[in-house]
Amino acid sequence: MPPHRGRPLHEIETWIFDLDNTLYPASCRLFDQIHDRMQRFIAERLNLSLEEALVVQKRYFREHGTTMRGLMTVDKVDPHEFLAYVHEVDLACMPPDPVLTAALAALPGRKIVHTNGSVRHAERLLAHLEIANSFCGIVDIADAGFEPKPALAGYRELLRRHTVRPQTALMIEDMAKNLVPAAALGMTTAWMRGTIDWAAAASEGDHIHYVVDKLGHFLAEAASLDPAVIEIPDQCPSPIRSARS
Ligand SMILES: [Mg+2]
Repeated sequence: MPPHRGRPLHEIETWIFDLDNTLYPASCRLFDQIHDRMQRFIAERLNLSLEEALVVQKRYFREHGTTMRGLMTVDKVDPHEFLAYVHEVDLACMPPDPVLTAALAALPGRKIVHTNGSVRHAERLLAHLEIANSFCGIVDIADAGFEPKPALAGYRELLRRHTVRPQTALMIEDMAKNLVPAAALGMTTAWMRGTIDWAAAASEGDHIHYVVDKLGHFLAEAASLDPAVIEIPDQCPSPIRSARS
C-alpha cells in the first residue's frame, strides 16, 4: 500500500484538470486531428513530404517533450502560430456529457484547466462541452514559458497565479507522468485511465492516488450527486428508435 494516498475528495478545494483526453474521452480521437495538422504544418514549414514530416514530428516529441518545443528550438518556429494552426480542429466528434456538466456545476471548489495546449483551444473546447461556466482559470503552455508538463514551470505558475495551496488541490490527468510533479508538490492526484499506451507510462506508483474511468461519475460521486438522477437528453436517437416512438 502506498505511504501517501492523497486527500479524501471532500477536503479538496481546488480541482485542476488537464484538457485533452481528460475533459473529453480519448475515444473522440480529437488528438488524431491535432496530430495530422502538426504533420501538415511541419511539411509546409520545413518543405518536406508528409512522410518526412512525420519522422521529424516523432523525433521532436521524443527528444524535446513536445513537437512544438522541437520546432521552437531547432527551427525557430513561432509557437503561437503553430498552436493556432494545429488546434483548428472539428469538434463535431465530441458531444457534451450531461453527467460531467452537472457534476462540475455541483462540485464545491474552484476548477482550473492546466493544459499543454493554448488558452484559445481550451476556451473553444470548454464552450463546446458546455462546461465553461464551471471554470475560473486556464493555465496554458504560454503561461508555462512553453515548457510542457511534466516540467515544473506550469505547475508553479498555476499555484502562484491562483494562490492554490497544493495540499488542498487535486489534479486530474490522462498522462500519468504529468502527475509525478503534482504529487511531489503535495497535490492529490487522479489518473484518467484510458486506452492510449503512452499515457499509461508511469501510471504505477505512490504519485497516483485515484484512478478514474469516467470523469463525470467520479466528480458526481465527489459532489454527492447520483449520476442516475441526472437527466440525459436524447441527443442522437437512432432511426430505429425514432420509428418505434
Ligand atoms: Mg491530456
